[in-house]
Amino acid sequence: MTSKKKDIRSLTKDQLREFFVKQGDKAFRGNQVYEWLWKKAAHDFEDMTNISLETRQMLEENFVINHIRVDAMQRSNDGTIKNAVKLHDGLTVESVLIPTDTRTTACVSSQVGCSLDCKFCATSRLKRMRNLNPDEIYDQVVVIDQQSKLYHNRPLSNIVFMGMGEPLMNYNNVLKSIEKITSPEGLGMSPKRIVVSTSGVPKMIKKMADDQVKFNLAVSLHSAIDEVRTSIMPFNEHFPLEDLREALEYWYAKTKRQITYEYVVWKEINDSQRDIDALVKFCKYVPCKVNIIEYNPIDDGDYQQASNLALENYITTLERNRIVVNVRRSRGKDIDAACGQLANKA
Ligand code: SAH
Repeated sequence: MTSKKKDIRSLTKDQLREFFVKQGDKAFRGNQVYEWLWKKAAHDFEDMTNISLETRQMLEENFVINHIRVDAMQRSNDGTIKNAVKLHDGLTVESVLIPTDTRTTACVSSQVGCSLDCKFCATSRLKRMRNLNPDEIYDQVVVIDQQSKLYHNRPLSNIVFMGMGEPLMNYNNVLKSIEKITSPEGLGMSPKRIVVSTSGVPKMIKKMADDQVKFNLAVSLHSAIDEVRTSIMPFNEHFPLEDLREALEYWYAKTKRQITYEYVVWKEINDSQRDIDALVKFCKYVPCKVNIIEYNPIDDGDYQQASNLALENYITTLERNRIVVNVRRSRGKDIDAACGQLANKA
């Protein structure tokens, strides 16, 4: 049920301070409540134990706290956890905790569904779409941080915006959520431990560079040949590789931070020598590294993981050209939590 009362977390700290002053209270009360809302991630006004009962009741009458709710949690035998997250208006997104020996990574969603139409991605089939608010993104991170402490005895160490949605099509809210995640008033995490992954929206990549953001950028490339990329990621027709290249050069000139290209190799789609040569050429434009991701099949079988031989070809050719390449094994496949499998199925 959507409440008509205002979501208190849409107020800035200053607005909250002003609100209390208007109520005849001290501005400092705003700071206290703000801390409860963000740093302490309170779900209810009654949790705010250092605030008087009267004030808590007054807040209750004026505002709601639209906290996300974990509707279902699935745990994979490799330790991966997938959360189905219910939003205040009844819609659902998914977020994933991915543990390795040394880190815990949160993979968070930025939109309900996705506005893009990548042929190989389950999320693109979800029609319904809205942007997540900054607090809905932040809450996913808080929940995973709590799960990391509970199940793996350590706090969350990394965040990747690789869940549902295209983060650069919800740029303002993603940026606000990252401000909160990195602020001492929120989780105080380093922006160096955050990766925003995009299918490549040139205008927004340039905007990020102008904004001097401090987090890292990954681009889902999958092909460095326009006609191939357009066949698997149709929006490429509107954002061709030449524009992407120019935006990435701009990004590097302004930030001096290298880019990660995510790349899946599919049988008979991008497994030929011509595809490899095009990638090598593209990698020379801007300092970068390549993450080869294992393909996670999504039902209909139109796309198949390329042979090991094709993968080897990619790896040796990239290495011969002194391009750093990593092969990323999938995690959480048994619970549909791996890249491209997030589709609110469970
Ligand atoms: N929209 C953003 C972030 C979400 S997708 C982006 O495109 O980067 C996160 C990553 O998973 C992307 O690199 C995407 O290309 C990849 N991916 C999507 N479907 C996949 C699948 N079925 N198997 C493996 N990786 C997939």
